[in-house]
Amino acid sequence: AQLPNSLEARDSAVQLHSYADARLQEETGALVIDRGEGIYVEDINGKRYIEGMAGLWSVAVGFGEKRLVDVAARQMEKLPYYHTFTYKTHGPSIELAEKLIEMAPVPMSKVYFTNSGSEANDTAIKLIWYRSNALGQPQRKKIISRVRGYHGVTLASASLTGLPNNHRSFDLPIPQVLHTTCPHYRSMKKDGESEAAFAKRCARDLEDMILAEGPDTIAAFFAEPVMGAGGVIVPPEGYWAAVQPVLKKYGILFVADEVICGFGRTGNMFGTQTYDLQPDMMTLSKALSSSYQPISALLINDDVYQPIADESHRIGVLGHGYTGSGHPVAAAVALENLKIIEERDLVGNVRAIAPLFQKRLAGLAENPLVVETRGIGLIGAAELSHETLAATPGALGAKTNATFQEKGLISRNMGDAMAFCPPLIITEAQVNEMFDIAQSSLDAIAQSL
Ligand code: PLP
Repeated sequence: AQLPNSLEARDSAVQLHSYADARLQEETGALVIDRGEGIYVEDINGKRYIEGMAGLWSVAVGFGEKRLVDVAARQMEKLPYYHTFTYKTHGPSIELAEKLIEMAPVPMSKVYFTNSGSEANDTAIKLIWYRSNALGQPQRKKIISRVRGYHGVTLASASLTGLPNNHRSFDLPIPQVLHTTCPHYRSMKKDGESEAAFAKRCARDLEDMILAEGPDTIAAFFAEPVMGAGGVIVPPEGYWAAVQPVLKKYGILFVADEVICGFGRTGNMFGTQTYDLQPDMMTLSKALSSSYQPISALLINDDVYQPIADESHRIGVLGHGYTGSGHPVAAAVALENLKIIEERDLVGNVRAIAPLFQKRLAGLAENPLVVETRGIGLIGAAELSHETLAATPGALGAKTNATFQEKGLISRNMGDAMAFCPPLIITEAQVNEMFDIAQSSLDAIAQSL
C-alpha cells in the first residue's frame, strides 16, 4: 500500500505510465529510482539494484559518468540550444554527424537527427515516401517489417512494430505497413524443420509477400539485426544470408534498426557487422548517448539521398524537421559518449564478458520453468513456460520480474521472456552477481508452485 503523500502516491495521482495497466499502477505504485552509479541504481529508500536492462537497453557506459555531466554543463553554458532548420547549424551537430558517418559500417552519405528511436524510424518512412515520389514511383509506398519486431510507437513506427499491444485499441497498423514471419525458430518452426530450412522459409515467406503485393509497390524492409523488445529473438543461422538477396532482387531498400544493437551490444560496433548486413539506411539511438540525453539519428546512403535532394530542389523544401533535431547539448553528450565507448574499448569488453554472460544465461535453463534461453553478446532472454500459473500468458513473467526486483535485480518481462541487457561496462563478477539473483529467484519460484 502507498503511504499518503509518499512519492509513490503522488506519482500514481498524476502520471500515466507507459506499458502499465493504469488501474494496477494506481493500486500498487511505481518503484521510485533516485540515483545511479555504474551498473547499479538506488531507490528512494536506499535499496540498490543491478540495472540488468541498462535502463531501457540503453545506458551503455553505466550511470554516473562524470564526463557526460561535464560536457553537458559546458555546452549548456556556451550554447544551450540551437536548431538545424533552414540554413543554420552548429558545431556539436556537425561533429556528431561526421563521427557517425566515419563509424558507419557501410558507406553512408548523410545524417538526419531526431530525438527518439520512434522519430528516427518515422522519419525513415517519410523520406522513403518522399524518395518514391521523387523517382516518379508514387505506387511504391508499402513497407514490410516483421511480426514481433519493435520500431517505436509513433503512428508510423508503431505500425512497423509487430506486437499486438502496440496496435490493439490504437487502430493500427496503418495500411501501408505489412508484417512478415518472425524468425523465432522454436515457436515458428514446422514439425521436423531444421533451423537452416526454417531460415530459408522465412526468406521465402518474405518473397511470397512481395510477389502477392506486387514488387513495384514495396519500398522498404525494416528490421532489427537482433529483435529486442519482441523478446530478444536472435536470427537463426543463415537467416540474413537468405533474406538480403530477396531485397536486392526486387530493389527494396533495407533499413537496419540499430536502436538496440548499435554501439557494441552484439559484440561488434553495429549489429550490421555481426550479421554482415548491407543496409541502405540505419536508425540509431539509445547507446548513441547512453540515454543521458534524448537523441537519435537516421543514416542514409547516397542512393537514398540523391533523389531526396532532387525533390527538395524541385519543390524548394524538405518539409520535415523537429525543434530538437541535432540538439547541441544532446549532440555534445553523444559525441563524448562515443569517445568513451571507443577509448574504453567497450566493444572489446562485450567480447570478453559475453562468453560468461551467455554461459550463465544458458545455465538458467536448468530450472524447470525455463523453456528456452537465447542471446548474443551482452543481450539475452530466458523464456518461461506458459503452462504454469493457470496458463495466463505473462503471469509468470510478471511474478518473476517482481521477485527479481525484490532481490535487487531489475529485468524486464516481455510476456514470459525475461530480458537481460546490462550496461556494457559490466564485469565478470557483476555478471555472476546478476545471474546468481536470477537463478535463486527462479529456483524459489519453481519450488513455490
Ligand atoms: N527501435 C528499437 C529497436 C527499439 O528497441 C526502440 C525502443 O525500445 C525503438 C526503436 C523506439 O525508440 P524510442 O522509445 O526512443 O522511441
